[in-house]
Amino acid sequence: MPVAGIRPGTPEQPADLVVRNAKVFTNDPRRPQATALAIRDGVIRAVGEDADIVPLVGPGTRVVDALGRRVVPGLNDAHLHVIRGGLNYVMELRWDGVRSLRRALAMLREQAERTPAGQWVRVVGGWSADQFAERRLPTLAELNAAAPDTPVFVLHLYQSALLNKAALRAAGFTRDTPDPAGGQIVRGHDGEPTGLLIAAPGALLLYSTLAKAPTLDEADKVDSTRHFLRELNRFGLTSAIDAAGGFQSFPENYGTVMELARRGELTLRIAYHLFPQTAGQELDDLKRWIDTVRPGEGDEWLRLNGAGENLTWAAADFENFTEPRPQLGAYEGEFEKAVRMLMEHGWGFRLHATYDGTIRRDLAVFEKLAAEGLFPQGNRWLFDHAETVSADSLDRIAALGGAVSVQNRLSFQGEAFVNRYGAPAAAEAPPLRAMLDRGLTVAGGTDATRVSSYNPWVALHWLVSGRAISGRRLAAEHNRLDRARALELFTLGGARLTGEQDVKGRLTVGSYADLAVLDADYFTVEEADIAHIESVLTVVGGRIVHAAAEHQGLAADLPAVSPDWSPVARFGGYQATPAPGLAGAQQADLVREAAAASDEQHAWRLARGRAVPGQNAAPQDPCFF
Ligand SMILES: [Zn+2]
Repeated sequence: MPVAGIRPGTPEQPADLVVRNAKVFTNDPRRPQATALAIRDGVIRAVGEDADIVPLVGPGTRVVDALGRRVVPGLNDAHLHVIRGGLNYVMELRWDGVRSLRRALAMLREQAERTPAGQWVRVVGGWSADQFAERRLPTLAELNAAAPDTPVFVLHLYQSALLNKAALRAAGFTRDTPDPAGGQIVRGHDGEPTGLLIAAPGALLLYSTLAKAPTLDEADKVDSTRHFLRELNRFGLTSAIDAAGGFQSFPENYGTVMELARRGELTLRIAYHLFPQTAGQELDDLKRWIDTVRPGEGDEWLRLNGAGENLTWAAADFENFTEPRPQLGAYEGEFEKAVRMLMEHGWGFRLHATYDGTIRRDLAVFEKLAAEGLFPQGNRWLFDHAETVSADSLDRIAALGGAVSVQNRLSFQGEAFVNRYGAPAAAEAPPLRAMLDRGLTVAGGTDATRVSSYNPWVALHWLVSGRAISGRRLAAEHNRLDRARALELFTLGGARLTGEQDVKGRLTVGSYADLAVLDADYFTVEEADIAHIESVLTVVGGRIVHAAAEHQGLAADLPAVSPDWSPVARFGGYQATPAPGLAGAQQADLVREAAAASDEQHAWRLARGRAVPGQNAAPQDPCFF
């Protein structure tokens, strides 16, 4: 019987899954385009035209007709706090993608009403005031009005947190609570905390306040992570490199993803890093890990990839662009010990560094070790962020065999960056062209979930257009990437950071069967529409993990979101809006709104005896008499 236009034969090794009638971008210069792929045992077995794949179709082969859609290699977010994000996802109200503060506050109000006593409403990153039509943050009065009794915590980047009165009470802030180092609890004339917390410039105050909210029990953490990974699959993401983070301790907070890996229930491949949590004890932590685990341990689904993105706390320069660049103390002593220990034991690392000033100091330490023949010793290492890295530092990074991982933090913080450092500095932040010209490995990521959104297409749009979510063009022309290059940063780039460039990031025979069928053609849509792309079919290791539109039903359902008051159960994650270039979608939206408005008017007139029931027309309107 013909299956989607292909008659099955009796091949010796039939494919499990075939995708045909597609515009496949393979990322392979030897064969850049194809229309079909055949997959068996999680690996791509053939790439070619539909006719080439036919001999691999057997009676048990699932054949997917891509309806001429664009297929790309699965995306790889090289800097995502995916493990922590998963543990918290179903407890968070995500404002990612919301285009007006009015809508954001309506969501918050509704969520406050459906949140049980003892729980909090948390809006924890993935948005900034720049995305709202109103171009402003909510006021504390608005938060208190929206949620009079339920604690509300709203994190705005790593700049500030807004707490309503109930959250101030729940967190125990009073007039007597002292400001912690690097943070400010803003007080009113009466000396009482107002609810505004400022990272000045460290984000620890914001983090530690959020840590006072209740956490999920173990079973819900597992489900929360599964839902978060599926939400990432929705955008065609199939791999991520976890950057660890504050309050993410090893091994305690890694148990959930390890359990999912054991069960074979991960739908995203994760390479993870280990990040010392306590200032003053970093070397002890690193020593303990070196004694118990090794980079490379795990498998292609979950693997340890080294240390970082912090190695020692004193070396971390927080990127609060509304505050002056932090003045770091003398951190080199402990930092050198940490790097030396890692190198001697075959541990690569990633290192958070926002500003060139920090990068220069780090490089001086690496060069000193290199002079002793101790760096990098064949270990993979990279800088994360590097918004203001100089040409000279890039030369030094290249000389030491380092890589760079860039994120679209300026999508969300671009206005703040421009206000402090000026448009010319923003045009070079980060200097992508200078990185690529030196042949450096550059990987793309988001830095979600507490700064940027986890939607990789917002980051790809930033790489291509150079625009922030406010619409302002930040990047200089030479720092804007063509679409293929931007996609390479989000596919092969990440694969190179984990040493998987031979099996990931391209759709070639022998590669992992990780791919996405997109709802719009990334290569031809209007530039502004790139940020609105989603996947209609995401495949990881040959398994369909996300299916929408014409493929709905092909991915196994997840258990319902638990707890039932979860904001995700009501609102989902990223809030999609119509792509601006799709005039049809916009038109449909306007018509829908107009129809709703006219229904409302009709009901209003009916209630006042000015309309005939069942006849939604204007003649009864007094204006027409
Ligand atoms: Zn970082």
